[in-house]
Amino acid sequence: MSEPTAPDHPNAVQGIDFTELTERFGTPLYVYDGEVITRQYQQLRDVLHPGVEMFYSLKANPNISVCALLNSLGARAEVSSLTELVTAQRAGVPAGQIMFLGPGKSATEITACLKDGITVICESFGELDLIDEIAAGLGTTAAVVLRVNPSFAVKGGGLTMGGKPRQFGIDEQALLDAPDLAARHSSVRLCGFQAYMGTRILSEDVITENTERILDLVERLSERLGVPLDVVDVGGGLGVAYFTNERDLDVAVLAERVNPHFARFAQNHPDTRMVMELGRYLVGHSGTYAVRVRYVKESMGERFAVADGGTNHHMAAVGIGSFVKRNFPMRMLNRPAGPDTVRWNVTGPLCTPNDTLGKAVDLPADLRPGDVVGVERSGAYGPTASPVHFLSHGYPAEVLVHKGHARLVRSRDDAESLLGQQILHDFRA
Ligand SMILES: *Cc1c(COP(=O)(O)O)cnc(C)c1O
Repeated sequence: MSEPTAPDHPNAVQGIDFTELTERFGTPLYVYDGEVITRQYQQLRDVLHPGVEMFYSLKANPNISVCALLNSLGARAEVSSLTELVTAQRAGVPAGQIMFLGPGKSATEITACLKDGITVICESFGELDLIDEIAAGLGTTAAVVLRVNPSFAVKGGGLTMGGKPRQFGIDEQALLDAPDLAARHSSVRLCGFQAYMGTRILSEDVITENTERILDLVERLSERLGVPLDVVDVGGGLGVAYFTNERDLDVAVLAERVNPHFARFAQNHPDTRMVMELGRYLVGHSGTYAVRVRYVKESMGERFAVADGGTNHHMAAVGIGSFVKRNFPMRMLNRPAGPDTVRWNVTGPLCTPNDTLGKAVDLPADLRPGDVVGVERSGAYGPTASPVHFLSHGYPAEVLVHKGHARLVRSRDDAESLLGQQILHDFRA
């Protein structure tokens, strides 16, 4: 169990200094540590019930090499857009190891899934009608898992999950009221259920209770609707500690509590694939967002370090799940820090006061232009969940360090790549 203030690594990744990485690849830069991704995957894999398949939710970090690394370790892929599907396929994930989920799937996305034998997790009756229609047109039968919005709520850590009106899934009650659902669509074969209760869960007990209740729910639904349980997907939402009052999950404790529920379920349903979805947990720890300080200044008694990247690449740093700004763990990365620290506001290049990566962060008193500051635990929901096009800065470069080698896995946007899709009309003629 590590406090988020404890660095995941020193000023180097697998022996490669951040100074070298930022000089070679430039800033602003995302660096992902493949050893940390491997550790996160393996430490859960080692203790989780062996019958549970671990699916990586690409939403957390859709980089194709990150996906390929996780698949090489044994993770499967959960995708939510056509491009995420193509990403997983090009990363080498076999069709039988991909599931497509999302409340607003297009006919194109559904068609791609059905053509390639990808399991679809269906989120509404309307979508089910469309899947049936598309499958009939293709002369195939679609294997469909139903996403349920459970009636129950599980409380934990200030979050309440489930039991609320949602655009995701089909209400448990609506499914119970449709006992003939399996017979309504001749080109659909319903084959299981999924439920996802929420994100950023840091309580082993909440995850266990979620899992237990979902396993119980799907048994009841299966009986009532006559739907076979080929697949049961209990969601996930395992969190990462970001802030000083949080602690990381203890996967040994989690496994000890949750495994008996999987074991009992597996005993009653030996042929059912059990699935857990993991995004943030697998990649969150691995990432550092490195920005270079351009200017330091003072305003009305506060110190500001203005850097070359900001919330345009790391929106989560503005604050997640709270109105009070809480800082991600941050450090100076390019040189040994002197003993004196003072409070700095670390800001980016955007023309908005919200562009603050860290507010009143303790950083060296002598922080100066040219220094590199890293925002740690930033491997999940980084640039992918940020307004990367604001002020037309575009995507930062991304580097994956694995087995001691640093490799560029996404090149940085520039004016050409960004303007390439715009169309200039001449109004002077
Ligand atoms: C976002 C999402 C995930 C991944 O969530 P994490 O909190 O990153 O693990 C998994 N399943 C569904 C349905 C999601 O929407």
